[in-house]
Amino acid sequence: MTERAPRSGGLAVTIRGLSKVYTRRDQRIPVLDGVDVVLAAGDRASVTGPSGAGKSTFLHILGTLDRPSAGEVLFDGDDVFARRQPQIDSLRNQQIGFVFQFHHLLPDQTAVDNVAMPLLISGVPMPAARGSASALLEKVGLGHRLSHLPGELSGGEQQRVAIARALVRSPRLLLADEPTGNLDPETAEGIFDLLLELNREMGATLVTVTHSRDLASRFPRRLAVVDGKLEEA
Ligand code: ADP
Repeated sequence: MTERAPRSGGLAVTIRGLSKVYTRRDQRIPVLDGVDVVLAAGDRASVTGPSGAGKSTFLHILGTLDRPSAGEVLFDGDDVFARRQPQIDSLRNQQIGFVFQFHHLLPDQTAVDNVAMPLLISGVPMPAARGSASALLEKVGLGHRLSHLPGELSGGEQQRVAIARALVRSPRLLLADEPTGNLDPETAEGIFDLLLELNREMGATLVTVTHSRDLASRFPRRLAVVDGKLEEA
């Protein structure tokens, strides 16, 4: 990170009595049942648990992509889901960055244009957006791959581009869902180290879901979904 890099400050999150029940046809599928957790600004937490435990569901609600069935999610003390939907959407766009297992990069856009896209959508002019995107790609070790298309990059490089894209608007909360699920162990370790390093430099609160206990153990705070609740692991 350069001296001039923006320091957004992490988001403080308090979750109280969070439950999620999916309904499918007339079937009720209870997934989360009374999750209570406090994330301090700048916290770095991993979330583990068996497949189907509710890790992604938790992360999606934390990222305001889905609503809880009951309970509260407070961002800096404010009840997020009490807001109107357009406000929730703009809060998400401005303050939350996502990295998914499958990177969802646009296949016909170069690395730099993929990373610049969130800035362009928010009205930043092209030269400035490309400048910020290039600087961030440099930081994730891809300064020599700016004009490559996703299909011309390795799996690990594609995920680095996705991380740069998630960070380009300096989110206060960075959420990663199995970000290394389809990468070999060595590349996966590199991606985790990168996430932790960027989090230290940019100060965002970081929550990463992983099925790997090994990778989870790199995080200062380790959480696990157990019987629909979140426990310190
Ligand atoms: P994990 O990420 O721990 O593997 P998920 O949060 O993806 O678990 O899913 C938890 C449970 O909720 C699973 O049993 C899954 O089948 C169910 N589930 C997830 N999304 C939906 C949905 N949209 N409708 C119904 N059931 C769902």
